Amino acid sequence: MNPETLESAQEDQQLRFQKGVGASKAKLLAQTGIERIEDACYYPPRRYEDRRKFFDIQDLESGVVATLKVEVYAIGIKRVRGRLTIVEAKEIDSTGALKIIWFNMPYLAKQLQPGQKLILFGKVELKGHQLTMTHPEMERVDDEVELGVHAGRIVPVYPLVSGITQRWMREFIYRTVRDHAADLEESLPPKLIKAKGWPGIHEAIRTLHFPQDEADLAPAQQRLAFEELLILQLALAQRRAQIQSKRKPQKYVLKKGSLFDQMIERLPFGLTGDQKQVLDELFTDMLQPYPMQRLLQGDVGCGKTIVMILLMAVVVEAKGQVALMAPTELLAEQHFATISKYLGPLGISVTLLSQSVSAAERRVRQEAVANGEVSIAIGTHALMQDAIAFKSLSFVIVDEQHKFGVMQRAKLVAKGKAPDVLVVTATPIPRTLALSLYGDLDVSTIREMPPGRKPIKTHWVGETERQRVYRAIHKQIELGRQVFIVYPLVDEKEDSDLKSATKMSERLRVEFKEGKVGLLHGKMKPIDKETTMQAFARNEIQVLVSTIVVEVGLDVPNATLMVIEHPERFGLAQMHQLRGRIGRGPHPSACILIGGKGKEAGQNQRLKAFTQSNDGFKLAETDMEIRGPGELIGRRQSGWAPFRIADLVRDLTWLENARVEAHEIIKEDPELASPDYSVLRHRLNRFRKQAQH
Ligand code: ADP
Ligand code: MG
Repeated sequence: MNPETLESAQEDQQLRFQKGVGASKAKLLAQTGIERIEDACYYPPRRYEDRRKFFDIQDLESGVVATLKVEVYAIGIKRVRGRLTIVEAKEIDSTGALKIIWFNMPYLAKQLQPGQKLILFGKVELKGHQLTMTHPEMERVDDEVELGVHAGRIVPVYPLVSGITQRWMREFIYRTVRDHAADLEESLPPKLIKAKGWPGIHEAIRTLHFPQDEADLAPAQQRLAFEELLILQLALAQRRAQIQSKRKPQKYVLKKGSLFDQMIERLPFGLTGDQKQVLDELFTDMLQPYPMQRLLQGDVGCGKTIVMILLMAVVVEAKGQVALMAPTELLAEQHFATISKYLGPLGISVTLLSQSVSAAERRVRQEAVANGEVSIAIGTHALMQDAIAFKSLSFVIVDEQHKFGVMQRAKLVAKGKAPDVLVVTATPIPRTLALSLYGDLDVSTIREMPPGRKPIKTHWVGETERQRVYRAIHKQIELGRQVFIVYPLVDEKEDSDLKSATKMSERLRVEFKEGKVGLLHGKMKPIDKETTMQAFARNEIQVLVSTIVVEVGLDVPNATLMVIEHPERFGLAQMHQLRGRIGRGPHPSACILIGGKGKEAGQNQRLKAFTQSNDGFKLAETDMEIRGPGELIGRRQSGWAPFRIADLVRDLTWLENARVEAHEIIKEDPELASPDYSVLRHRLNRFRKQAQH
């Protein structure tokens, strides 16, 4: 299809030509993301109901989740304690009666008349001998022609916005799919569809909404998910291909007696096997004519910083400059101290572009970076400011990538010609997820820990053992050690039994009189946070009560005990980062989780897994299986990929598949110029536009 035909097809995509859709409905639909006919076709049901046969009331028992077709027999309203209203209805079918309860929906008592037919979906419970459903999902069955849409088949149930009913939505989508599915263009290459045994696009869309049979659903969903994943992977593969077509000015030669060799000699330890392996991978990239784009991941303490420092020596020897961006001032300062310690004696000049020095001093340092006197510049996101320029920036390191966006990375990269880029993260990410989050990067991983590290013991105790935990804290203080106590929240929420860091720090000040108790939380001013963290680092504070802010980077070898309150509120990956704050010195260390034993098996399984493993990658995988990738990568990022149908947990293997396929396509036809790919190319352009928002 040529581009003009596609453009005119765009015109026809407008919803207002659809029956029943006026300006106001179109507005509501837009809230669900449906703006065009195609969007409606791709709008996935939240779930399905098998309405080929309804449950009979006589077959219900407590605990059953059922779809029923019933008639209202009687309806009444009660007012309780002034404000609360309870609407109660008795519903019948030919086999029995059932009670329905709605709280605080008094208008229902007027809307539902005896004789009204309803389809209900919900969980049945036994309340005082009476089978009851509370707040079921409900659809009114009107005596109009049913179109065969709402019953007598497997029906879709859609996510809604207020102002749109389930019935309206179902009919709207039914008509749209009936009239327009045949116009959708096949975007997947025919040989791929055939190889996988998938339905074509028209059949897949019809099945997505109105499956003939449950067994048809999976292949239809798969191919639709694959389509989305393929487009994402094509975008990433093209980006990579573009980067690889660049030529970088910096050239490296590895020769004997280099600064790199001198550095290795000065190290008080030998490199681990994984460190050597990773250095090999990185050098191989650096020797390419195009810029490196690599992610280095490894647990806290596995020795990533040393790897970074060794690379810096290579870059500086080749007359290049290095920029290292850290997520906090404190981390930037720690990096500055470590890097100066190793590279200073080799005559390499390092500077900290910190916010905490005077403006005059900052100008001096910036000037030294701009004219090339300084080889290594370290800072926070302030490094990206327009005022900061480099003479020959050839290597960019971004520490803790997930705290920065991809766009920010690009801004720093643009300060050089075509610098090599290394993203470093201590949040272990399962490979499959790394491919989707950082698909434009190659991944290097350090799993091995340096020898001699004592494993941290982790205990999970109940609330009743709090006094024992306090005794353990007293003991550590007595031994001269330091302790973290971490809470999930800053302020005590109403109606919540969660102890907040602020309130508890008051009580703990009384409990631990022999030491100083400090408080650290996310709502403090950055300068106060820094001051507190530094005081803890200098052992002027013995017990640091904090929220999750300590997650990143605090390096205090004297801290030996990490107590985590309400562990059920944290992700495993997060808690693993917390645990990484201890066990950094010669003293034995322990982590204690207090409370959080719940009824949910998944939750207990998670926390138990945490006590049994010190392997961040294993924990990340467990966390992803149980809670999904959204939790792992943080709430902010979970909406990152604009997927309508693909689900990163369910479709993880297809993600890998899509990546392979995308690379093959791009290798064969980098611009997707062939007519076979015209639909894909068009979709890809749309995807890029959306991704920029
Ligand atoms: P990361 O940056 O991955 O958290 P670091 O590079 O800061 O880890 O290393 C943690 C500690 O382990 C540092 O004190 C470092 O000197 C030490 N270390 C790094 N590599 C080795 C090694 N191969 N053998 C022994 N100790 C090492
Ligand atoms: Mg580090």
